[in-house]
Amino acid sequence: MKTSTAVYPGTFDPITYGHMDLIGRALKLFGKVVVGVTTNPAKKPFFLLEERVALAKASVKNLANVEVKSFDSLLVDFARAENASVILRGLREMSDFPSEFQGATVNRKLEPSLETVFIVTSEKYSYLNSTIVKEIARFNGKLSEFVPGHVERALREKLSK
Ligand code: ADP
Repeated sequence: MKTSTAVYPGTFDPITYGHMDLIGRALKLFGKVVVGVTTNPAKKPFFLLEERVALAKASVKNLANVEVKSFDSLLVDFARAENASVILRGLREMSDFPSEFQGATVNRKLEPSLETVFIVTSEKYSYLNSTIVKEIARFNGKLSEFVPGHVERALREKLSK
């Protein structure tokens, strides 16, 4: 597997230590991880696409073999364009499973050669998601355990506007 490329798709609104933990662990399995930041208008993201990409890029700048790109296409087409053989997703809790199972099945129908691989979240971050981070930021709570400093500053700056 060390020679394969995995795409790690998501909204990353914003990237958290949970996402970064998953990327770090994926690097032990795959030769390259391409973080794919989706437009996802259905989720009405707080940060613009370019901002989410920039925050993710800054978060992984010290990691070799990680790239951050945006995409606005079918995930299987993005994976194909990146020469990836794996779609990587995180599983935090049981409630993640139904939609992840559906997504993985649909993607296999669309592109049978792509495998979806799930990495189970570290207990340390299993409670953490971008929504909680935004909620804490809105009420001016402490964020240092959840996101890197530059993400915290971006949250505070955007909320102050
Ligand atoms: P999406 O809207 O596609 O679920 P997210 O940015 O919320 O995008 O999540 C992207 C991926 O990162 C998903 O596979 C999700 O399960 C995983 N993920 C989110 N939070 C964590 C976390 N705390 N630890 C590990 N993986 C996570």
